[in-house]
Amino acid sequence: MNDTKVYILDGGSLVIDGFHVFWNRGPAGDVRFPCYSVLIDHPEGKFIFDTGFDKEHVEKVLPFEKPLQTDAQTLPGSLHAVGLTSGDITHVINSHYHFDHCGGNKHLHNATTICHKAELEGYHKPQPFEHLGYSDKSFDLATDIYTPRYETVEGDVEIAKGVHLMETPGHTKGHYSLLVELKGRRPMLFTADACYSKKNMDMNCISSFHLDPVASLESMSRLTSLAQEHEAEMFFSHDPDSYGSYLQAPGYYS
Ligand SMILES: [Zn+2]
Repeated sequence: MNDTKVYILDGGSLVIDGFHVFWNRGPAGDVRFPCYSVLIDHPEGKFIFDTGFDKEHVEKVLPFEKPLQTDAQTLPGSLHAVGLTSGDITHVINSHYHFDHCGGNKHLHNATTICHKAELEGYHKPQPFEHLGYSDKSFDLATDIYTPRYETVEGDVEIAKGVHLMETPGHTKGHYSLLVELKGRRPMLFTADACYSKKNMDMNCISSFHLDPVASLESMSRLTSLAQEHEAEMFFSHDPDSYGSYLQAPGYYS
């Protein structure tokens, strides 16, 4: 973990209804929220956790989510801002395969794709109500520049020294959160969609997009325990209120 740097790469924003953000609680109305990727520059490789959404895909398939994304907020654009190209990334890990977390995978043509075995199964055989979530299939399709190479894992796993994937199922079948230990600060715990925002955590309220609501609640409680156990700071996936306080690339945590 000595020379590890963590960058938050801004990926633009989407809109969903308040009743989807706070399941059966609301209030209703448009909520615009951020999407971002996490770049871990580590002695063992350059890892990306989540890759945001592909604007063209969202405009075509889910235009009601009103995507906003500049060229600088695309994955290649945000990597460029930290002096990297898509080909420099050695590993990509997706918390899960919903379209707003895997839209940039197709640019990472040199990366090995690390994923939860159950998530790949869930994506290949989704429940009927999961079709829109799993609508961007570009991460799984071979193209002339990109062929995914999967390395499937299960359970909690340390993928590089101090970089831990923690199982937090419920939102989807094989959902992972990410814990990164750093030399100069508290560990960072990226909840991903096991908890959209601090307000969800404070209200003990999950989002309406889930495979299993009870497992989702258990995963939120697991995140709280992990944060306590590791004295970690939580970073939420879609939190319009907290996001402004997160250090953005080219700044980094170390
Ligand atoms: Zn999401």
